[in-house]
Amino acid sequence: VLDQVVKRFGEHVAVDGVDLQISQGEFLAIMGPSGCGKTTTLRMIAGLEEPSEGEIRLNGKRINELKPWQRDTPLVWQNLALFPHLNVRRNVEFGLKMRGVGARERHERAMNWLERMGLTEYASRNIAQLSGGERQRVAIARALVTEPEILLLDEPLSALDAHLRVRMQSEITQLQKQLGITFAYVTHNQSEAFAMASRVAIMNDGQIQQIGSPREVYRAPANHFVAEFVGSNNILIGTVSALADGRVTVETPRGSFRVPTPEPAPARGDTLELVVSADLVAISDSAGEHENVLTGELISEEFIGSVITLYIDIGDGTVFRVQKQQHELDA
Ligand code: ATP
Repeated sequence: VLDQVVKRFGEHVAVDGVDLQISQGEFLAIMGPSGCGKTTTLRMIAGLEEPSEGEIRLNGKRINELKPWQRDTPLVWQNLALFPHLNVRRNVEFGLKMRGVGARERHERAMNWLERMGLTEYASRNIAQLSGGERQRVAIARALVTEPEILLLDEPLSALDAHLRVRMQSEITQLQKQLGITFAYVTHNQSEAFAMASRVAIMNDGQIQQIGSPREVYRAPANHFVAEFVGSNNILIGTVSALADGRVTVETPRGSFRVPTPEPAPARGDTLELVVSADLVAISDSAGEHENVLTGELISEEFIGSVITLYIDIGDGTVFRVQKQQHELDA
């Protein structure tokens, strides 16, 4: 539990009153733009930074002042910090050695983790003789060998190429499911966060903007920041002109739109932002008898595999994005 946690570096507020509960066994991703305070949040949980204010509790116990080695919260980060002068097995044994575990038990536990990570045959290799993905697995084995309750991961895949990255994503997700260990995973990569996590926390300016399932965050962004940050949303701003039958009419410079009344209900004259997901827009070469119609000129198409993004100029250079499957466009 992070309870009103603040972290200041001099005058600069890096984390600004974060409240966060991470449940046992869950996979939480923390996402946000560069400099929003993700890493600082994780480092405070790991004990590498001490909060300026607020409290961090693990199983109900305050851990603010505990040193990293006094708490069970190892951190795996992109540089991995593997020891180049130790072989794979000795790297994995390291945390156990620091805890005074005897040589034979260390050896057994390390080999057990290497086997789980498919690394048995690499046990006596040097770190320099491993590929990026193999090193990543060694780093995870090294963090898990002490059987922590929570594993912290800070952009652990960002140094890997796209192909390996996707493979490691599914390996890590499966491992988390098998072990039932709590994972807190920092990334600025949305597809990674959405693919792996059961809940996502979106941060900006040191504050959490929204926490929810990937679906909730994607389909029901809590505010303007989340709407812009997540997915390919279009935002239209307008003024409420009427409320009737559970629907609200919003006049925008691009036309009039009738949409379900949000909670809490606005009043006439209020300004509203309409968030329109790019994949929930129907397109046609004639308006027909529909509600909520926008007219524009197709200016470009972007092909990214099965999905195509259409960029449509809806007037005054405002670009509206529509995403369609290739077969939908063909039809
Ligand atoms: P990125 O995605 O770029 O890693 P982040 O969200 O992880 O960003 P943090 O590393 O948590 O961001 O940094 C948050 C803010 O705190 C940044 O403005 C950063 O410059 C500042 N900051 C981080 N560590 C320190 C430090 N040791 N001293 C001073 N300022 C710091």
